[in-house]
Amino acid sequence: MTVIGVFALQGNVREHLAMLTDVGVEARPVRRPSELEQVDALVLPGGESTTMDKLARAFELFEPLQKRIADGMPVFGTCAGMIMLANEITGGIEGQETLGGLDVTVRRNAFGRQVDSFEADLDFPGLGPGFGTPYHAVFIRAPWVERVGRDVEVLSTVSSGPATGRIVAVRHDRLLATSFHPEMTGDARLHGYFAELVRGL
Ligand code: GLN
Repeated sequence: MTVIGVFALQGNVREHLAMLTDVGVEARPVRRPSELEQVDALVLPGGESTTMDKLARAFELFEPLQKRIADGMPVFGTCAGMIMLANEITGGIEGQETLGGLDVTVRRNAFGRQVDSFEADLDFPGLGPGFGTPYHAVFIRAPWVERVGRDVEVLSTVSSGPATGRIVAVRHDRLLATSFHPEMTGDARLHGYFAELVRGL
């Protein structure tokens, strides 16, 4: 059975484990390098990227994670997890580092203070028949993607309001990232899409 881990030192861990179980994979929390070795793929949840960065170092997961990403492990980064996957960030705190791997520039807390959190219906035109209806997305102090590298596919953008056109979901090969929290609404389509990507390898 396909085993997908959830980085479990900080963030919305339980919700992701439940969604992964719903889409038929074995889901396991990952807190130490030996647990990372046993998963086929990983979810980096939402939470706080500066804390994740520090904890990943303290628990000696930072380098093993970078190595597995470089070796082609599929990763789904959501919100703070998207920040952790980005090669470049703006609006980070001093000394903040990311794992990298995804050729994008991500702006932290991009939607601004006045809209700490909001919800929006998003289209995923490239993701096939299962995505024929909009995906209801919850954004919490969310980042957006300001630059995408040549091989990065834009999966979704905001389609109304002041942030219209902002990129909020991307994929590059085995790396998938969303600005929003797909674990919070009970819509398992993106977890299903990620599980299919992992199963297809
Ligand atoms: N603003 C947070 C950060 O920088 C991300 C928020 C979230 O994951 N909901 O990590």
